[in-house]
Amino acid sequence: MSEGLTRREAMGHAARGLAAIGLGVTAFHLIRKADGQIVWQLDHGRCVNSRLGAVGVNTCNLCTSECVVAQSAVRAVNDFSKCGRCYICPAYYNVTSAVDESGLPSEKLCPRDAITRTMIGDADPEDPANNFYEYVIDETKCDGCGKCVMGCKEPAGLGSIRLAVRHDLCVDCNRCAIAMACPDDAFTQASVEEAFERLETKGGT
Ligand code: SF4
Ligand code: SF4
Ligand code: SF4
Repeated sequence: MSEGLTRREAMGHAARGLAAIGLGVTAFHLIRKADGQIVWQLDHGRCVNSRLGAVGVNTCNLCTSECVVAQSAVRAVNDFSKCGRCYICPAYYNVTSAVDESGLPSEKLCPRDAITRTMIGDADPEDPANNFYEYVIDETKCDGCGKCVMGCKEPAGLGSIRLAVRHDLCVDCNRCAIAMACPDDAFTQASVEEAFERLETKGGT
């Protein structure tokens, strides 16, 4: 780490870079769609899994079970600019599982083992809570079940993970099976141009 750059400042730089990469993936796949084409989008302000205030309720997994694509065209995305890089991440760990000998929850939350945890910098053996971690979702494993999204919100999480339609995987059904099943009307249609606008103003589609 360069002199004068604190650990937290370095994490901030890394976060902005990773968030830009995440948006870039969405933009890249949108660019490949034709002008005026209609795409399906997921509004994370409506989806129960990410909507603020919806706590103590069951995770909705309809994006996984209803999509016509075998592994679902919906995947979890970490918005790194919001991530606290927590020592005990409630999206990574099943925080209700028994504590193991190292003082950490013994079980992971993701049923597909799609999230990896990597320490940032050197470990602080005196104070484990002063250690920070990067949590990266492997989208090839994720099927959008929403568990980690629900885990990463109040009271313990920061709302850093959301579900998103991956436009390279979605086959743009005229009548999206998820939209028909969604209890929150969180699936909406937009033109590619409108989806870009939303990406710029709200940071996701
Ligand atoms: S949405 Fe489900 S499968 Fe995907 S990373 Fe989160 S917990 Fe794992
Ligand atoms: S439009 Fe079809 S492929 Fe795309 S998310 Fe909906 S059901 Fe899945
Ligand atoms: S079906 Fe609707 S509420 Fe359920 S996870 Fe998908 S977008 Fe969220």
